[in-house]
Amino acid sequence: MMNKEKSISLIIPCYNEEENVKLFYEETIKVLKDYNIEFVFINDGSKDKTLNELKEIYNTSKYNIKIIDFSRNFGKESAIYAGLLNTSNDYICLIDADLQQNPKYIIDMLKVLNNNEEIDIVAMYQKTRKENFFIAKLKNFFYKIINKLSEVDFVSGASDFRMFRKNVKDAMLELKEQNRFSKGIFSWVGFNTYFMEYTVEERKYGKSKWSLIKLFKYAFKGIMSFSTAPLKLASITGFLTSLISIIYLIVVIIEKLTRGIEVSGYATIVVLILFLGGLQLLVIGIIGEYIGAMYIENKNRPLFITRKIYNNQDKKELPKK
Ligand code: UDP
Ligand code: MG
Repeated sequence: MMNKEKSISLIIPCYNEEENVKLFYEETIKVLKDYNIEFVFINDGSKDKTLNELKEIYNTSKYNIKIIDFSRNFGKESAIYAGLLNTSNDYICLIDADLQQNPKYIIDMLKVLNNNEEIDIVAMYQKTRKENFFIAKLKNFFYKIINKLSEVDFVSGASDFRMFRKNVKDAMLELKEQNRFSKGIFSWVGFNTYFMEYTVEERKYGKSKWSLIKLFKYAFKGIMSFSTAPLKLASITGFLTSLISIIYLIVVIIEKLTRGIEVSGYATIVVLILFLGGLQLLVIGIIGEYIGAMYIENKNRPLFITRKIYNNQDKKELPKK
């Protein structure tokens, strides 16, 4: 059983997944019955009965089960970090609790790592997005932008359903930033990544935690944490507007001298004031976002707080409630 090549730690962030966790667990042990699995569940401040469901798995499972119970909802990225800290195998896999990422692929990813010593990360990606057309287009557009703006590469359609070696885990833990964007972190740390195509399933129960607004915020934060290009907007637009105004000044002088035309009036001035005022506020806003991010980073708060860690290797039976 302690075969190193068959020992995997699974990191499973769970937020309000009461209907899914048991199904996920059962499905996973079914396909991975020949493997030695450590389950690291993170209960990310669920407001439903997720923790109770997890405790039942914990009490009955013959596998190594850890539950990291957060003191509140800290978000998936923090949950992943907590998971990384608590894995003990050489192969680590991130997977969602909602069965959108079929655990059968774990075997394929493991094969790649076992057969290719030079590959460190296997990342699953979807070639065609199954989401609605509009969202899919927006996401692809986001990848275009972020690839232009930042030095590291982002692969469109790549998920954080990944398996990697311990050296990758150690590198990821070195990045202690508050604003975590795991896709960026994966490309920033480097290593050889093998991309494997997969089909995303429908969410079993419950609904996705992503609204359109949340996606936008996430996209902007992602760009901010891996690029300072938006800050250059001020210098570029400043330069362009000065250039345009100098040209316009010359045009006005020439018109006045040659044809005696009065400087055009009210509407132009109002539009220009509003336009430039708006532009300035926008740029200040962008700078403000970066300062805000720096403020948060500077506080250096922990990425999460645990209420309790359960580990069934400690051989303690949990109280039922
Ligand atoms: N999740 C989490 N904390 C959060 C939001 C989500 O741990 O604040 C977990 C969630 O339980 C699931 C995974 O992250 O296991 C992916 O979330 P979701 O299915 O909502 O995202 P989607 O698949 O729609 O991208
Ligand atoms: Mg999902």
